[in-house]
Amino acid sequence: MSTIDSILSKRELTKEDIVILLEAEAEDKDKLYAKAAEVKEHYVGCKVYFRGLIEMSNYCRKNCFYCGIRSSNTNTERYNLTDEEVVEAAVLAWKNDYASIALQSGEKDTKEFVDRITMLLGKINRATKGGLGITLSMGEQTEDTYKRWFDNGAIRYLLRIEASNKELYAKLHPNNKAHDFDNRIECLRLLRRVGYQVGSGVMIGLPFQTLDNLAEDLLWIKSMDIDMVGMGPYVEHPDTPLYKYKDQLLPLEERFTLSLKMTAILRILMKDINIVAPTALQAIDKLGREKGLKVGANVIMPNITPGIYRDSYKLYNNKPCTDEAFDDSKSSLEASIRLTGDTIGYGEQGNSPHFKKRVD
Ligand code: SAM
Ligand code: SF4
Repeated sequence: MSTIDSILSKRELTKEDIVILLEAEAEDKDKLYAKAAEVKEHYVGCKVYFRGLIEMSNYCRKNCFYCGIRSSNTNTERYNLTDEEVVEAAVLAWKNDYASIALQSGEKDTKEFVDRITMLLGKINRATKGGLGITLSMGEQTEDTYKRWFDNGAIRYLLRIEASNKELYAKLHPNNKAHDFDNRIECLRLLRRVGYQVGSGVMIGLPFQTLDNLAEDLLWIKSMDIDMVGMGPYVEHPDTPLYKYKDQLLPLEERFTLSLKMTAILRILMKDINIVAPTALQAIDKLGREKGLKVGANVIMPNITPGIYRDSYKLYNNKPCTDEAFDDSKSSLEASIRLTGDTIGYGEQGNSPHFKKRVD
């Protein structure tokens, strides 16, 4: 039996096994992808669920070294959607049978912000008759805040660890209390305790990152028993401190392939979780998200932020869909998903089976 065949037939994968899978090329890579597709079909089915993504605001109190909307970037025009705009976008998702939305924003911890999200959750639920599964991605908050938002109707929370290796994390963030690695881990524990379906993930192809780091990221996700994962390629942004390392990065195509391999290995490691095919894949390859679906992902987050704001939520270069109207995105998504062989779970929230099994 070849090395790849014997690794793919194992029940548990070691870090060394994962590194070999991350290095797989040609036929070996195809075997990895085929195995992931088989596991996906068997455990979560060939169905893709939508989360209509609403990028609520790009004001952020933090200064992550990789992110285009970091607080020190004065070249970004800041915006904050009005309540009406957020509710309208949510209703649009609901009327189009998306069944789920994801509200994302720069991180703020003021009382006004926390109260506003609490109130908005109520407004969205009233306007959509409680018909939407709501994911929040609003960064690090207190347990009380997480609880208030959960009590007001949010059911999932996405907080990427970004890099599970503490030393690497420190190279990507300022060294201060607002960017503390241990606090981010603690927040993931709080989210679990409050009752959310907990999402996390990492960026792939970061400066200083090794294949060992990526293998450890996957094992960390497993050890944290995460319910849903959003991970994708790091894409550099010129107005960020990490941009100075751009010449040390893997070419974009290699970051893309590495992201597909990470997705495939994760599907094999955690068979029944939800895995997002992130927008950053599409920034590199027009059909990037669809390729993610073919190797194990089962969730897509179509951007439903009102068009006039999309250009200002630039986390990285070439962010796609900044000039597409909602209907174009929807019909082109339908056409390209049809090519993957998956069906779209319209009208279904598509909650993580992994989460369901744990709480039942
Ligand atoms: N502020 C919240 C937080 O950080 O958790 C949520 C919004 S933040 C913009 C969402 C995600 O964008 C981050 O978790 C990070 O992984 C991703 N991101 C930021 N800059 C990126 C970049 N240059 N390339 C790829 N992903 C990036
Ligand atoms: Fe703010 Fe999130 Fe960007 Fe960090 S990644 S600067 S917390 S929006």
